[in-house]
Amino acid sequence: MTTLSPDMEISEELVRKFDKLGPRYTSYPTADRFHAAFTEQTYRSYLDLRAGKDNNPPLSIYIHLPFCESLCYFCACNKIITKDHERVGEYLRYLDKEMALVASRIGRDRKTVQLHLGGGTPTFFNADELRQLMATVRRHFDFTADAELGVEIDPRTVEAGTLSMLAELGFNRNSFGVQDFDPAVQQAVNRIQPLSMVEKAVVESRKANFQSINADLIYGLPKQTMESFSRTLDDLIRVSPDRIALYNYAHLPARFKAQRLIVESDLPSAEARLQIFLMSMRRLLDAGYVYIGLDHFSKPDDELNKARLDKTLHRNFQGYTTRSECDLIGLGVSAISKVGDSYSQAVRTVSAYYQHLDAGRLPIEKGFELSQDDVLRRDIIMTLMCSATVEMEAINRDYGIDFNTYFSAELLRLKPYEEAGLITIEPSAIRVTPKGRLFVRASGMVFDKYLGQPTTSTYSKLI
Ligand code: SF4
Repeated sequence: MTTLSPDMEISEELVRKFDKLGPRYTSYPTADRFHAAFTEQTYRSYLDLRAGKDNNPPLSIYIHLPFCESLCYFCACNKIITKDHERVGEYLRYLDKEMALVASRIGRDRKTVQLHLGGGTPTFFNADELRQLMATVRRHFDFTADAELGVEIDPRTVEAGTLSMLAELGFNRNSFGVQDFDPAVQQAVNRIQPLSMVEKAVVESRKANFQSINADLIYGLPKQTMESFSRTLDDLIRVSPDRIALYNYAHLPARFKAQRLIVESDLPSAEARLQIFLMSMRRLLDAGYVYIGLDHFSKPDDELNKARLDKTLHRNFQGYTTRSECDLIGLGVSAISKVGDSYSQAVRTVSAYYQHLDAGRLPIEKGFELSQDDVLRRDIIMTLMCSATVEMEAINRDYGIDFNTYFSAELLRLKPYEEAGLITIEPSAIRVTPKGRLFVRASGMVFDKYLGQPTTSTYSKLI
């Protein structure tokens, strides 16, 4: 039995029983359910539905910048490894075309409250290219004064002035890929970045007034041990980012080619991973970080924790977020959009992306139109993951159903979770207990009606 905090006692048996292979629910239905019957035309019709209406939700924009200079062997992202920086200019021109097509349907009266640059490596783009990108986005979309502008940063690309330049462009949140500080682990995954590099980047971020600094760690990487990861945690806690994401490495070499370069015999055993995970949780909580959910931690005064306490936390494709009720506009290769009750995803390759835009088409490859039942189930799954309490009366009122009748099968399937102390089922609410928050993905899966159906995806475990 491991005691993580006074109300979080986790046994290994509990982990083995309830830590199932499953989706991370950055969307529901999950992206592996998207299909090609959802076309560019369907996406346009969703963009048009909002046109000219009052009370439209604000916009959140995600831009996928796919280029990286070198390959990290654990990578599961859609990226292009190249040293050819000339490719950026062409990609920027096509992003401009895509923004023009989307913005012409949305109109400039929609306010943008959030922007996130992901990749790939956004800082593969030099200062002039990032300036050009931001000028283009601001030409097409109207940002609120307090908009949240976030950027993923590879510490190896940070030069003198990079962070102040990003701050000048309006970025106020950033996220560093750290993964592990141990030299042997870094060597085994082909990502060499000493602690001093990350330290410097975080110090520069603070000087440039970034409001929230995140660092990503990955456990389960080759050559990792309890001792080595414990040192990584000590170092990162000293660097003191506002948020820490502790991801589980999912080794899926059949699906992600880069991972075939990892020597499998170097991977920690399932038992070692579990011990590393439990030690990491304990260490982060002891250091004063708060558990937000799934793999996310933050300092108590970070807005993510404030949103968790206010029950205004939400999930989107970047994980937990404080902004809700936005239409999400994805731009660039493989970017996902969420407009009204629809999801859509762009083509994965730059050649297909350019072809669609040359033909004046939005580069949509697939998507999903949600039924009323999908929207209801999404609401329940996201509520479980973000605010831990599903109020049945509110669901009955909002969706015109009787919860106990509509979800009688799901309530039965939740019984083992209740018996294990992971949730409580009361006459008016389902509540996730403190230790149940670790397994919330599994209790959410009970409400996922697509899980029994064939999928192209390979899910991972939390631990
Ligand atoms: S982990 Fe990031 S930097 Fe490394 S290859 Fe993948 S996208 Fe590029």
